[in-house]
Amino acid sequence: MRKCPSCNMELKEMQYHKQTVDMCPTCGGVFFDHGELETIVQIVDIFKDIELSEEEIDTVSRYEKERILLCPECNVELCAKEIAGEIIDVCPECRGIWLDKGEIIALKIAENHIKEYLNLYIRLAE
Ligand SMILES: [Zn+2]
Ligand SMILES: [Zn+2]
Repeated sequence: MRKCPSCNMELKEMQYHKQTVDMCPTCGGVFFDHGELETIVQIVDIFKDIELSEEEIDTVSRYEKERILLCPECNVELCAKEIAGEIIDVCPECRGIWLDKGEIIALKIAENHIKEYLNLYIRLAE
């Protein structure tokens, strides 16, 4: 059973637009398998329906970025990777992506930016 890298709770499998993801019921973090660029684009797509309140946007900057998280799948340390100025945690082994709630909100905010600069990110991902 996969555990949340942040609070160590068991992750629950959920269907998100045809993709199965593991979500933490406690902190709202989400683990995506095989974090290739399409997945990031897909994530942005998935979260496009989320409506954000001003309050939630305010909390983003308060999230702790200097922390060590272990991949729920392979138990190796996740690497921080910058996408559209936001940090996401990517597993160097399985290429899974861990997003905590703040990161989901941040990516949501960065959605238009990511779409605009998609070609640039494709080159960076190579
Ligand atoms: Zn959690
Ligand atoms: Zn992994």
